Amino acid sequence: MQKLFKKYGLLVWLSLILIAGFVFTAVAAYVVSRDTIQQSFSEQTLPLTGDNIYSEIQKDILRPVFVASQMAHDTFVRDWMINGEEDKDQIVKYLKEIKSKNNAISSFLVSNQTQNYYHADGVLKSIKETEARDQWFYRVKNLKAAYETNVDIDMANRDTMTIFVNYRVLDYNGQFIGATGIGLTLDTMKHLIDNYQTRFHRNIYFVDTKGNIALAGTSKKIRNNINEIPGISSIAPQILANRKSESVHLEYKTDTEPTLVNSRFIPELGWHLLVEQDLSSDMKPLQNVFAINLGIGGGVMLVVLIILCFSVHRYQTRLEKSASTDTLTGLLNRQAFDFVFQQALLDGERSRQPMCVVLLDIDFFKKVNDKLGHLVGDHVLKEIAMISKRSLRESDIICRWGGEEFLILLKNCTLEKATAIAENLRNTIANNDFSRTTDLTKTRLAITVSMGVAQCKDKETEDSVFERADLALYQAKANGRNSVYFSE
Ligand code: GH3
Ligand code: MG
Ligand code: MG
Repeated sequence: MQKLFKKYGLLVWLSLILIAGFVFTAVAAYVVSRDTIQQSFSEQTLPLTGDNIYSEIQKDILRPVFVASQMAHDTFVRDWMINGEEDKDQIVKYLKEIKSKNNAISSFLVSNQTQNYYHADGVLKSIKETEARDQWFYRVKNLKAAYETNVDIDMANRDTMTIFVNYRVLDYNGQFIGATGIGLTLDTMKHLIDNYQTRFHRNIYFVDTKGNIALAGTSKKIRNNINEIPGISSIAPQILANRKSESVHLEYKTDTEPTLVNSRFIPELGWHLLVEQDLSSDMKPLQNVFAINLGIGGGVMLVVLIILCFSVHRYQTRLEKSASTDTLTGLLNRQAFDFVFQQALLDGERSRQPMCVVLLDIDFFKKVNDKLGHLVGDHVLKEIAMISKRSLRESDIICRWGGEEFLILLKNCTLEKATAIAENLRNTIANNDFSRTTDLTKTRLAITVSMGVAQCKDKETEDSVFERADLALYQAKANGRNSVYFSE
């Protein structure tokens, strides 16, 4: 791994920089667009939705409040009560008229004097302070505000859940004389909210001043308290503290994406209107784009890196090869041999095995060049390299030492054996007809070589062994060439 890093260091760094840069760009683009979307939701879309819903609600929910207010201030109603509630038909007719005119589910009047509960079909019952169902009346009686909105069951309508607007009726001296108002079924209201929700693609609900969910679509449970619902409970105090009609923007987190909340207080209802936007669905397309970006970018980068790797590897091996081999003969060159020789020397010392070097020089090579030309000379060099390779062992190393000189390294080989191998090689070359393998010359071409052999001694330097082999070679040359000499 370390070796690989050293060899392809630049490539690794380049890849890392590319990957880091690409991932950084993709993530930055995602974060910026996400923040922009969130900001636009929280500052524009949600408040606008809040305003729209508020104006719709004014039409649908506030109307009963105004109707109830008119009923409570109606002089006929007040006079009829003050005058002893005599003609019951009169008030029943009045309540019937109110109910049908306003499409309400019920209309009512409860007298503090007689405790009678009047509705559109007559006297329903007499309320009692001990009765749990009638508690609302005693609450309204002590109410500081003029009215309350209350979600309760309607006894006059087979106990269906109903929103009541309970308005205090006062005599001309401001004394409480009863409660009046109308009721709307909760089902109608729930559908109304569902309708808003599908139209605006938001979560819409109301909470009372204590945080209890007063009104919501069919999917949300009524009466749960936002102080106890995970997520929104973290911002519940801020929601409930806002008593102005201006909206506040808040957000809470449940999973990874935040939920934006726009909240406003509706004083006429005594409720907070909450419009929620869960951003996870809005972020989905953005996340998809992010994933596609990463996928395509990563793929392209991978292909580019693979191509880069391949070409760098190809050039590298080509470079290494050309730096270590001789182009004419394909043998190792002198620099490469130096390295291999050092390695072999160490191995030989460690394993205590004898090792020999043979220096080979072609006899009168200058004459071959001069007589037959350089091309024939080159051919002879190649052929000698080939013959040497063929007659030596796989583990032996041949190198082109100089112009027409070769150096052979014989591992695990004594001086005696090395001399025999050299002699054998000399003989093979001397008996070879070099013209057979080329069209450059037709006449038989015999070439001889001279060799000097030396065995590496313990702790002997490289230069010293070569010098001894060179000396032996000089002896061979001096004594008539075409022979093998060795250094003792
Ligand atoms: P000796 O027997 O004393 O070694 O005589 P020689 O002629 O072989 O020795 P010398 O060193 O005088 O000449 C070597 C020649 O080899 C000279 C040079 O032109 C030739 N030579 C060296 N490299 C190449 C090569 O790559 N191709 C060819 N064709 N000739 C080369
Ligand atoms: Mg020479
Ligand atoms: Mg020579």
